[in-house]
Amino acid sequence: MPILVLPKEVSSKIAAGEVVERPVSVVKELLENSIDAGATEISIKIVHAGKRLIEVIDNGEGILYEESGIAFKRYATSKISSAEDLEKIQTLGFRGEALASIAAVSRFMIESRARNEKIGFNLVIQGGDETGKKHIGRSVGTLIRVEDLFFNVPARLKFLKKDITERRLISLIVSRYALFYAGIRFSLIQEGKKVLATNGNNNRREILSQVYNLETAKSFLEVNYSDEYLQLEGYTSPLNFTRSTRKEIFFFINGRLVNNPVLSSAITRGYHGFLMVGRFPITNLFINISPTELDVNVHPTKAEIRLKNSNQVFTAIQRIIRKTIAAYAPYAAIPAHFWKTSELEKNVGHLGIDLNSSVDSRQEMQSSERLTSVHLDPLKYSGLPLLRLIGQLGLTYIAAEGPDGLYLIDQHAAHERILFEKIANQDVDKNISQFLLEPITVTLPSAQFERLEQQLGLLIGIGFQLEPFGPGTYKIMAVPQVLSSMDPKEALMSAVSDDKDSPKELVDTENKEKMITRICKRLAIKGGQVLSTQEQKQLIRDLENCKNPRTCPHGRPTMIHISVDVLERQFGRRGSV
Ligand code: ADP
Ligand code: MG
Repeated sequence: MPILVLPKEVSSKIAAGEVVERPVSVVKELLENSIDAGATEISIKIVHAGKRLIEVIDNGEGILYEESGIAFKRYATSKISSAEDLEKIQTLGFRGEALASIAAVSRFMIESRARNEKIGFNLVIQGGDETGKKHIGRSVGTLIRVEDLFFNVPARLKFLKKDITERRLISLIVSRYALFYAGIRFSLIQEGKKVLATNGNNNRREILSQVYNLETAKSFLEVNYSDEYLQLEGYTSPLNFTRSTRKEIFFFINGRLVNNPVLSSAITRGYHGFLMVGRFPITNLFINISPTELDVNVHPTKAEIRLKNSNQVFTAIQRIIRKTIAAYAPYAAIPAHFWKTSELEKNVGHLGIDLNSSVDSRQEMQSSERLTSVHLDPLKYSGLPLLRLIGQLGLTYIAAEGPDGLYLIDQHAAHERILFEKIANQDVDKNISQFLLEPITVTLPSAQFERLEQQLGLLIGIGFQLEPFGPGTYKIMAVPQVLSSMDPKEALMSAVSDDKDSPKELVDTENKEKMITRICKRLAIKGGQVLSTQEQKQLIRDLENCKNPRTCPHGRPTMIHISVDVLERQFGRRGSV
């Protein structure tokens, strides 16, 4: 065959093929144009999954009558004028291809009125050719109607997915834009049904609740970070709310929805060690960065971008994600295969010892032991959900139900925590001592007597009132009010000795915290002790009021959480799909 320049009908279809792959591509381009035009209200109507009709109406600045003919020419754009402009693009569009491409493969109609014009116009284009233009009266803004998409490229029609899939792609894209551009009122009507309607009041949680549901929307964790290089904002799912694919990790970079597998792996890396293998978070992350730091001109639909310094962005994302979930994901979520008690104890104990190490080494330890969803970082978390008592187990644990599953509470560790906070947080300006009706005398072995003399200041500081009473003996006048229900002698002894049967030398680096920890250990309810229902309830309530309810003062967990998710999986109610 001889070499020929292709006729316009052919070349325009080839070019259109790059930009307009399926109905959702049209929706995205039109949306972006409306946003670039400064619209505060965008309504989208879809019929027959976009194959029959895609209509986008906005109240943006509109198109000038005299520019209406040129807007549909390839590479006609009002957004850039020189090659240098490509380096600092602030708009979503810039290639000037969308309208030309869409009009080449559909029956296309546009109505618009520019802000400074008194009258609007209506223009019809069929398969790329202008077939009619007239003045009309209308409000400022633009309406674009795309009918019979691909009517002249039947091959394309064949490659479309099932209607339901095409519709899902459309609502997915529209809802992400609605979420990011939360100041714009969006409405999406598919096949006559309103599937999304936002009110432009910048309330992203409200939009999330439309996209997911109320409960889910509430549970999303807020991501917030900024440094001199970039700003990150958005929402990511808590550990008990995951998906089996990465497909629900979305990025907006400078207002543009983009795919970027590297950044999405930064998110999954942030979750590493927190989620079970094969589970992925749901994330909507909005990144703001100087336009000179990225190249948006690498893809015909602008769905991909190149970052100049992707390492820096990667690290920032990974760190903030990790920090965000660590701050909210407080408890030991034990995977199902640790149900066997011995295993459970062994591993919890083991993890407990390591509490003071860095997150990273703990993470290594966890992955080396395949404890993919065990996470202990209770110190950063405050608060506990409201728990409903189920009952006592093995006279040692208390089972309770929370909004997100089962909690097993170690009664001793929990009580230690409660006592610790009560003593440590006493308001010293108030009266913290409870005077005894009859002072009690305590005679101590010499080592302990010496210890008591050294600690006198600390003891008085927490509410004890003591008087020397002959050799090796002290008289207890008052005890800390928070310990008033305890045996006063036991309370005092616990402060000076680690172990009541074999009093061993205490180390010299004594401080208030250590002393309180020791008192709590001795006075707290023991494992094996029967608790009445009332006492169990009280313990849970007291624990809920603690600042750090998840660990005992030694750093061991006070509770294990088994999420509904784990239960459902273990009982085969939910597969891995
Ligand atoms: P690009 O967005 O890359 O500039 P398009 O083909 O999408 O290219 O649009 C061409 C031009 O038409 C835009 O630059 C803009 O000036 C104008 N335009 C398109 N859609 C709208 C709209 N909804 N409101 C106002 N102007 C629009
Ligand atoms: Mg455009």
